[in-house]
Amino acid sequence: MPQAYAHQGTLGHYINGREVAGQSGRAADVFNPALGHVARQVSLATSAEVENAVAAASAALPGWSSTPPIRRARVLNRFLALMNERRDELAAIITAEHGKVFSDAQGEVMRGIDVVEFACGIPQLLKGDYTDQVSTGIDNWTMRQPLGVVAGITPFNFPCMVPCWMFPVALACGNTFILKPSERDPSAGLFMARLLTEAGLPDGVFNVVNGDKEAVDALLHHPEVEALSFVGSTPIAQYIYQTGAGNGKRVQALGGAKNHMVVMPDADLEQAVDGLVGAAYGSAGERCMAISVAVLVGESADRILPRLADRARSLVIKNGMEADAEMGPIVTRQALERIEGYIARGIEEGAELVVDGRGLKVPGHEEGFFTGGTLFDRVTPDMVVYREEIFGPVLCCVRVPDFAEAVRLINAHAYGNGVACYTRDGNVAREFARQIKVGMVGINVPIPVPMAWHGFGGWKKSLFGDMHAYGEEGVRFYTRQKSVMQRWPESIGKGAEFAMPTAK
Ligand code: NAD
Repeated sequence: MPQAYAHQGTLGHYINGREVAGQSGRAADVFNPALGHVARQVSLATSAEVENAVAAASAALPGWSSTPPIRRARVLNRFLALMNERRDELAAIITAEHGKVFSDAQGEVMRGIDVVEFACGIPQLLKGDYTDQVSTGIDNWTMRQPLGVVAGITPFNFPCMVPCWMFPVALACGNTFILKPSERDPSAGLFMARLLTEAGLPDGVFNVVNGDKEAVDALLHHPEVEALSFVGSTPIAQYIYQTGAGNGKRVQALGGAKNHMVVMPDADLEQAVDGLVGAAYGSAGERCMAISVAVLVGESADRILPRLADRARSLVIKNGMEADAEMGPIVTRQALERIEGYIARGIEEGAELVVDGRGLKVPGHEEGFFTGGTLFDRVTPDMVVYREEIFGPVLCCVRVPDFAEAVRLINAHAYGNGVACYTRDGNVAREFARQIKVGMVGINVPIPVPMAWHGFGGWKKSLFGDMHAYGEEGVRFYTRQKSVMQRWPESIGKGAEFAMPTAK
């Protein structure tokens, strides 16, 4: 296991191939959540600093966008090698600022690397279509061209993987990029910026601007920013989508979630418990694909609940750098208080508190932002703890009589990011996948995050925009299609044509 990350001082930005100190005089605290103290600070950019990043990205655009795709892919291949060499260092940085356990951070980095590998295949992905002889002597083809300067605004919970959903594909397509990472864990973005430069990426092609709403608003209103990818909570996603689209930009805004897992009475209950415990409490529930609602069908409820409760009580919760940790701290004290506030609300609303994780103290880390795993039974759809995203290690169990009711419940929820169904019945599984109004479905797979070439995205209030992140949809998002028709003088007939041209 590598050394814990120990950078001190104030983090700045990465503009035009180098680190630059922040000029705004404003900074945010970045915590070590396991210890509960401020580990470093991060500068919060002004719109003038965003302007510098956009100017660098605009200046780099003509050269990068006209670089042949295979040469862009070679730079990404070198970046891929560096990411692989340094991935444990990057994982330790993530654990230090986010709090997730080291093995989970390693998994996050690997899922980011998957997208870099996908983007290395860009020559094949950008191949256009060609039709010879659409009319006598006329050919028609399509090509995909980069958008220009594009920006990505990312959440705290995956400081490496979520930026990697965006920039490898955007850069491979020939765009230049500005990343605005979460101010709660900004070091991973800067680390990857340095590796991109080391890999030979020309200066200005990839920039990092640290900041808050001021920086985001500057990107949303900047006339040279062609597109924005956002991942974060639903209210901000909605704001980004409406403002960006209102300014004529292409926007993809992935929002929050409330993911259900249905347990059918025929499911292997040990497997279902393993699936639920890992998906509800892994990463302290701070995953947009975390399972936060168990939908227990018929008799599965009484059989599964005692086992679930045992497992929630015996979670190994400690500093994520310790080898046997299953769950680390919450990212900030404010987030911890919000989660524990929801637990109090659930009790008030009449949910049955089976395991109460509140007030956990980890020896040697008494100031750390820890809470235990919480389990509620007899949650109903009208409760706030059912309707809203808690984004913490709180699992709500809802009992339903049958499969049809499970599907109705999930389809009525405002969110539609991920969902899972545990069953041994092939027809139930098939019907579930067909009927459920959710973007990503797992059959006996609790966290069905699609692989790099399949694309990631939810439905309903979990995604605003048309296209999913990464995969072929990502390539479409970061390019414009152009159609070209050609003919040559030898095949042009005499005289003007006034009727709509048709194939001749
Ligand atoms: P957040 O919405 O608070 O922040 C996301 C980004 O928006 C950050 O970069 C932040 O600086 C910026 N931001 C915050 N407030 C803003 C404002 N008022 N105006 C403009 N920009 C603002 O989200 P978070 O707490 O960092 O991340 C957790 C959320 O992200 C959860 O809701 C989770 O479900 C969601 N998420 C969704 C997905 C997905 O794929 N759908 C993936 C990961 C996380």
